[in-house]
Amino acid sequence: MSLVECPECNKEMSSTAPTCPHCGWVRRFEEAERKDISIGRILFALSLCLIIFLLALPYFDNSLVTANFGVKWEYKITPIKDENLEKEMDKMGKEGWEMISARRASGYGGEFSYEMIFKRKMREERK
Ligand SMILES: [Zn+2]
Repeated sequence: MSLVECPECNKEMSSTAPTCPHCGWVRRFEEAERKDISIGRILFALSLCLIIFLLALPYFDNSLVTANFGVKWEYKITPIKDENLEKEMDKMGKEGWEMISARRASGYGGEFSYEMIFKRKMREERK
């Protein structure tokens, strides 16, 4: 409830009061009702938007929806030499691999390279 100016005597009156306590001005019923309808319409439109958004979500971004439901991952552990690092990383990225771990490891010849672990989502098996 808030205070508004009476259109007749310009004194303060409650926005919800049907009549002015000072001059007896009577609020027309439809005026108050119109306000309710417009708020109701806005709420209805907003909830409609929300419902449409939720329904359309699976089609917009599949990863968002499937992120927590039965996603299967495949992993690859591979050593990558320093001189090929950027090239190899680009290649893995193009194949859909995401690096989740990298460590400095020594190889058989005593040389060091990065041992990396990649993961990517498994493609859905076709029946
Ligand atoms: Zn008044």
